[in-house]
Amino acid sequence: MKNIVLLAVTFLPSLALAQSYLIENVRIFNGVDPELTAGHVLVEDGVIASVSEEAMSPPEGATVIDGGNRVLTPGFIDLHVHLTSHTPSKLGDSHTTVVGAIANDVARHFLDSGFTTIRDAGGTHPSLARAIEAGVVYGPRVFPSGAILSQTGGHGDWRHPSAPHPMLESGSPYTPSDTGVLVDGVDQHLAAARENLRRGATQIKIMGGGGVMSDYDPIDSLQPSPAEIRAAVQAASDWGTYVLAHAYTSEAVRRLVDNGVRCIEHGLLIDDATARYVKQNDVVISTQLVIFRELANLPGITETNLEKLNVVLAGQENLIELIKKHDITTGFSTDLIGGMYPMVTREFTERAMYWTPAEVLAQATSESAKVIRMAGKRNRFGNFGEIREGWVADLLLINGEPLEDISVLRNPDRNLALIMKAGEIIKQQL
Ligand SMILES: [Zn+2]
Repeated sequence: MKNIVLLAVTFLPSLALAQSYLIENVRIFNGVDPELTAGHVLVEDGVIASVSEEAMSPPEGATVIDGGNRVLTPGFIDLHVHLTSHTPSKLGDSHTTVVGAIANDVARHFLDSGFTTIRDAGGTHPSLARAIEAGVVYGPRVFPSGAILSQTGGHGDWRHPSAPHPMLESGSPYTPSDTGVLVDGVDQHLAAARENLRRGATQIKIMGGGGVMSDYDPIDSLQPSPAEIRAAVQAASDWGTYVLAHAYTSEAVRRLVDNGVRCIEHGLLIDDATARYVKQNDVVISTQLVIFRELANLPGITETNLEKLNVVLAGQENLIELIKKHDITTGFSTDLIGGMYPMVTREFTERAMYWTPAEVLAQATSESAKVIRMAGKRNRFGNFGEIREGWVADLLLINGEPLEDISVLRNPDRNLALIMKAGEIIKQQL
């Protein structure tokens, strides 16, 4: 009996009416403006009810939190996470239960590092996003893409060279743990995208060109055909959402943009004219710095992978210049795989080599949130990513001066004094 009572108490926070908080005496980075504003923030029912430079008297029942003149920022957002791609290669193809158990650790690390929202760029079943939303699994809010669509022989075709084709020879198009799906032809692209959406994907991910970690597709290969891309885009846009696509080269990116893809992942080898074209079409280039600089150290990486890695890595600084020159929306994303997720906060300092700390913080908050909102009504959570009245209360209180020295974010255990997700306190260490 006692155990039952304890359990009920343990689960109360997610069931009870949301608590109100008055966070006093903070300097606010609102997600957009580079200057801090001294003020006070009232949180009610999970949203930011009021932001004021004047002191407020706390409403009845509200808990007062003294921010101690710390910097208050929106919760961080990572646009390219793979929760289910961290099983070590020495374990081979693990059962779904193992993949899920590891994904739980990854989700925990992201939230504890200040990431209140992630977009899963493929592999994670949307039911894990729902389990987190229900408060059963600890982690950030997840916008899942479901199983990644790849053509046969494409960047998502991880089979051993002599392995049977999963649909032609063994009956299911899904790769192990449903992380990807091999599709060829318009009908299969429609079916796979629609199945992902049925499962709860908030956007669709396709492999739109050659990749580094797959052994059989050249980086310069074009994947899939224009009609197949249009099919995935049609299924997504009929559901009110969009397609993001893995691609490196100008030719691949042009084909994807021409056929309706709204967000390019990586893009390291595009030229100036393609960057201009991307900007003209209001397409996002979500790129990552750390993973490309660390991938060579991944256990199990092959010679072929390394050769391809060197080709794309050579384009990285040029891409950063093009993103800056053409003012392309990029957001903040990491794409860490193979157990490298503890490096997530290094992305902040790596980016600060090219952008100001305020620009990096805007990428990780308001700019990424704009990209997430391309999911339209598939976003069930309202607006977040900025400190604004009426927006979701995803908030961080930071020890130190992140706008002067962003490296304080490298140590979230010590320097995140408060983590609040949708008005719920995840961590308080004031
Ligand atoms: Zn990825």
